[in-house]
Amino acid sequence: MKRNYEYIVLGLGGLGSGAAYWLSRRAGSEVLGIEQFELGHVRGESEDHSRIIRLSYHTPAYVELAKLAYDAWATLERESGDQVVLRTGGLDFAKPDSLIALDTYRYAMRACNVPFEDLDADEIMRRWPQFTLTHEIQGLFQEQSGIAMAARANAAHRKMAIAQGATLLDHTPVINIATKGDEVIVETRDGRYRCRKLIIAAGPWSNKALGFLGMELPLEITREQVTYFASPDAAAFAPDRFPVWIWMDDPCFYGFPVFGEAGPKAAQDAGGKPVTADTRNFEPDPDNLRGVEEFLARYIPGALGPIIYTKTCLYTLTPDRDFVIDHVPGHENVVVAIGAGHAFKFASQIGRLLSELALDGDTAVDLEPFSLDRPILKMKNPPKSYMV
Ligand SMILES: Cc1cc2nc3c(=O)[nH]c(=O)nc-3n(C[C@H](O)[C@H](O)[C@H](O)COP(=O)(O)OP(=O)(O)OC[C@H]3O[C@@H](n4cnc5c(N)ncnc54)[C@H](O)[C@@H]3O)c2cc1C
Repeated sequence: MKRNYEYIVLGLGGLGSGAAYWLSRRAGSEVLGIEQFELGHVRGESEDHSRIIRLSYHTPAYVELAKLAYDAWATLERESGDQVVLRTGGLDFAKPDSLIALDTYRYAMRACNVPFEDLDADEIMRRWPQFTLTHEIQGLFQEQSGIAMAARANAAHRKMAIAQGATLLDHTPVINIATKGDEVIVETRDGRYRCRKLIIAAGPWSNKALGFLGMELPLEITREQVTYFASPDAAAFAPDRFPVWIWMDDPCFYGFPVFGEAGPKAAQDAGGKPVTADTRNFEPDPDNLRGVEEFLARYIPGALGPIIYTKTCLYTLTPDRDFVIDHVPGHENVVVAIGAGHAFKFASQIGRLLSELALDGDTAVDLEPFSLDRPILKMKNPPKSYMV
């Protein structure tokens, strides 16, 4: 059995599957992916029918990265023959005094030449009578927003990685990592693997994996949840009649048209309690669900109906909610990515960036905002700002 590879990817969730795909496009059978559970398991962050994808973001850096994300998904779609993005249009809406300022989004999109429409409450309700808004509410509509089909996209990344020669191991926890000169030794219960470059994409287990290299980040793991509702008028929430949406305030709510289940999906962003990845449970939190139902009852009442199911999931939050995409200091042949609870839309693009860092040592994209060197990641108890 082959034990030496040029590249190993630790973790085959959203980001790691993306990295395995992009690495294998250039390095084929020199790529090994290692996953502790079954492929497509639901204990991490990346497995559901849908995640929001959007160009609408709060900084030009994220808007530019989102443009590259659409391009990366398009490459995957072309090569795999699987559709993984569905454009529905997206509405960000808020009251004028909301905690998340729509102006920041307007500025960032204008700076990046991304077209969007400013809509008042009447216009929003004229286009989508599913919303019941008060007159002071404003919205931004961006037509390219939509659904990244998470589970399908992960499967497509892995299918293509294997087709391009990569080996993907499931049920293989990594139990230690050591670097020695130009070599990285990755230890599993089934023995040791060696590589020249290691990519860590361990999601909520990031600190455990980084801990093998003596690093700990001030991450908070929260248990989040999404709920599918059996709307009595599900047809009104079909993807060609209803956009993805985000209520830009604290608490922040978001939702989807009907996709993958028989009714629309809604959730609160970063509304979950801190947990650990190994001790969390899978029981829905009734208080969190009540908040979502109250929001829907007020602003999108037709979406409500009997609960189809609530699915729990984890966020790995950095204190500033910015990603980590960087070499590990002191271990330059190890690269790490952490998604900060909003990375799925970028999973293929982050995979591409990780592959470039591993293959070429650098990338044309400025990764400074996602550096491990930022002061907030060095603080023991940093201030947290999750609503951006
Ligand atoms: C409810 C919810 C809604 C979200 N909504 C959106 C959205 O609308 N838009 C958006 O862009 N993003 C969204 N996100 C965030 C996005 O889904 C995550 O940022 C992204 O999926 C993170 O992927 P990951 O690969 O980092 O983590 P994961 O998918 O958790 O993958 C990490 C993998 O590493 C494996 N692993 C860890 N340690 C080891 C080890 N020692 N050995 C072997 N394997 C290991 C784990 O088993 C796991 O499979 C949402 C997340 C949640 C939970």
